[in-house]
Amino acid sequence: MSYDSASKIQDFLVFGEFGDVNPSICDSSTYTFFKSETMEDMFHHEHEGCFLYSRHFNPTNKYLCRALAAMESTEAAQATSSGMGAITSAILQICSSGDEVVSGWTIYGGSYAFLRNFLPRFGVNVRFTSITDLTMVEAQFTEKTKVLYCESISNPLLEVADIPALAELCKRRGVTLIVDNTFSPMIISPARLGADIVAHSLTKFINGTSDCVAGCICAKKEFIDSVVDPNNGACMLLGPVLDSIRAAGVLKNLHSLHIRMKQHSANALYLAENLAKLGLKIHYPGLKAHPQHQLMTRLMNPGIGYGGMMTIDVGEYEKAARLMSAMQDSLVGYLAVSLGYFKTLFSAPAHSTSSEIPEEDRQKMGLSTGMIRFSVGLDNDIDRSFQRIKQCLEKERII
Ligand code: PLP
Repeated sequence: MSYDSASKIQDFLVFGEFGDVNPSICDSSTYTFFKSETMEDMFHHEHEGCFLYSRHFNPTNKYLCRALAAMESTEAAQATSSGMGAITSAILQICSSGDEVVSGWTIYGGSYAFLRNFLPRFGVNVRFTSITDLTMVEAQFTEKTKVLYCESISNPLLEVADIPALAELCKRRGVTLIVDNTFSPMIISPARLGADIVAHSLTKFINGTSDCVAGCICAKKEFIDSVVDPNNGACMLLGPVLDSIRAAGVLKNLHSLHIRMKQHSANALYLAENLAKLGLKIHYPGLKAHPQHQLMTRLMNPGIGYGGMMTIDVGEYEKAARLMSAMQDSLVGYLAVSLGYFKTLFSAPAHSTSSEIPEEDRQKMGLSTGMIRFSVGLDNDIDRSFQRIKQCLEKERII
């Protein structure tokens, strides 16, 4: 089931308007037609090579979408103005009032808040469960369940979803499996493993330069056609369109993703192994001690590594806060949210990106206030970074 998405991107050649290797950026919101009848028909059918209005789709975004679909091994893709734009549009496209969603509870705080606070306002009930316990997942399914939602590697607890087993459950019940693959592009290929829809925050590893917010939905052509339908499509009607200048930038960065992911992974593994040796509580799927290490090894595409995300739990928030400031002062990286940047980023999820999750739920899922999430950067000399972190840990009397 493994998939070489790096080679798919390598084989993605674009011949631009002037033979340009980076296709010209389409700088138009609207497009002319020779005949009014063709324009009218565009509201009902796609015409190859014709464009109507850039909220619908535009030529630059189409190039990016074709590359993303090749990367995820899906028939089609739709680029969106954020990861949240992708996730919310995909779910809203499927669910109507009275339907239910089952979701893993360790997911990005924004997705959790959307599912917990926002969707019920429209009559869609959401049941949260531990995604690593298949019996518990199945127990949450009812006749009304339309969607099972999870992250391939969860934010921030780094739990790995058994996508083939979850897909099997969904197929038996006619439920759509949506997987957010933001933490593991090229490493895990959810659609190859049975997921129906793959969402990404392109803001993270895929773009890699923390200079824009973007997202995508990768799925069958029929589903992508439905989200851009002028009469019923969530992307068309809610309007999370990605600007074509940004789409062109993300497409260029996509071509170096495999090199970056390998370096993020190698650096994270080095830090995880060496910090674990100091007796710290480290969570990284590449460590044998990680509860889903074997599962991840079975599911992942070979040659890229276990990804750039790692956590350290220092017990208390005050210690975590002091350590993060010390690390920033020592040039380890930035005390900042987000991930997938070329520099190391760290933040305390309980006090930032997961603060939308009520404290009681955070405690149940094991999300400690002293947990620091690292997005490990592309450092050339990772041992030098490790020595700096070690000095900070000593200075703050954590070790
Ligand atoms: N999914 C995951 C796993 C995330 O970490 C994030 C943001 O941090 C999102 C989705 C949302 O993406 P965006 O900020 O591009 O809307």
